[in-house]
Amino acid sequence: MENTLRRRAFLKMMAKGLFVSSGLLVYPSLGWSEDAMGYAFEGQSLLHKKYYIKAVQVLKKSVNLDPESDWAQGLLGRAYAGLGQKAEAVVAFRNAIRINPGDTYSRMMIAEMTQKPITGTQKEKKPLTPLEKKALEEEEVMLNRLNAKKGLGYNVKRVVIDAGHGGFDPGAVGQSGLKEKDVTLDIALKLNTKLNSIGKIKSFLTRTGDYYMPLSARTVTANQHQADLFISIHINANNKRSANGSETYFCSKKASSSEAEKVAALENSVLKFDETHKKKPGYINIEEILFRFEQKLYWTESGKFAKTFQDRFKKNLPFRSRGVHSANFYVLRRAKMPSILLETGFISNSSNEEMLKKPAFRDKIVDSIARGIS
Ligand SMILES: [Zn+2]
Repeated sequence: MENTLRRRAFLKMMAKGLFVSSGLLVYPSLGWSEDAMGYAFEGQSLLHKKYYIKAVQVLKKSVNLDPESDWAQGLLGRAYAGLGQKAEAVVAFRNAIRINPGDTYSRMMIAEMTQKPITGTQKEKKPLTPLEKKALEEEEVMLNRLNAKKGLGYNVKRVVIDAGHGGFDPGAVGQSGLKEKDVTLDIALKLNTKLNSIGKIKSFLTRTGDYYMPLSARTVTANQHQADLFISIHINANNKRSANGSETYFCSKKASSSEAEKVAALENSVLKFDETHKKKPGYINIEEILFRFEQKLYWTESGKFAKTFQDRFKKNLPFRSRGVHSANFYVLRRAKMPSILLETGFISNSSNEEMLKKPAFRDKIVDSIARGIS
C-alpha cells in the first residue's frame, strides 16, 4: 500500500506542473529511478515509445523490487505482449490480477492472448471476432456487477479537471478581449480547490497555469491519475453572436448534429500542433482492440454524466440550457474513464461574455459542476 501512496504523491506532483509546456513529463531528480516506482515510470514511457525490449528490462527490475505492484506487472505484461512473448505476458497479467482482482484490463488481455495468436501487425481494422464479442459481453457483466455493488450509478472518487486551451492557444476570444483559456483556468482552479476542500473527492488538474498542453497529454494525465471522471472545461463561440447558453458534450464517433460537429472541430483545431496523435500506419496493437471495448462502455456512461451536469446548469445558471450533445472530441477520445466536455456560455455573445467576466458568475459555474459531481 505504501507503494500506492508514493505513486499518488508522484502523480500529485505531476499535477502541480511537472509537465513542461511541450507536454513532456519532466522527472524530478528525487531518486525515483532508483526504486520500483521509478523503474515502472521509465518502463511506461519506453512502452509508449514501443521500445519493448528496453521496457521489459526496466519493468523486470521494477517487479523484482516490488512484486506486489499490479501496475508494474500490468506494464510488464504489455511490454511482453509488444514483443510477442505470449507466455511471459500472460504470467505478468496473471500476477496483476492476483494482486488486483479488479484489473479487468489484464483479464481481457489474458483472454485475448490465450485464445488467439498475436500478430505484431495487422493490415486493417476487422469486424469483431466471436471471441472479441465474448470479451465485450464479459466486460459488460463485470461492469454491471461493479455498478450493482456501488448502488445506483457510478461512484466518483477521483476526478481530473481540464482547463481548456492555454499558452499560445487562447481558445475563443470575446468581443471585449476576454479569452477562453483564462476563464477555463480560473474555473478549473476554483473547482479543484472546492472539491479538495470538501474532501470526499480527490481532484487533479491537467494544467495549473497559462501554458499550452497537447490534447493527448491531458488525457494521459487523466488516465495516469486513474480518475473516475474527466471533465474538460470550455467556453463556446459561434459566428452567430446571438448564440448563448450552456451545453454539455460527451464523446461519440459521429456527431449528434452538424452544430455539435462544428463545436468539436473548434475544440480539436489545436490538434495540428500535436504530433502524437498521428497514427503509425499498419500498426494496430492488441491494446487498441481491447480499448475499443472499454471505450464504448465509457462513452455510454459519459452520456449519463453529461445529462446530470446539464440538468445542474439548467437549474443553477441564469441562461439558456442548450442540452446534451455528442461529437468526436480528441481530448475525450482516449480517456479510460467517463469523460465530458462542458461549454459554459458563449464568449462570442456579449451578454454571456459580460457574465463570464464576473467572479460571482464563475463561482456559480463552479458550484454547479461540483454539485454535478457529487
Ligand atoms: Zn475550448
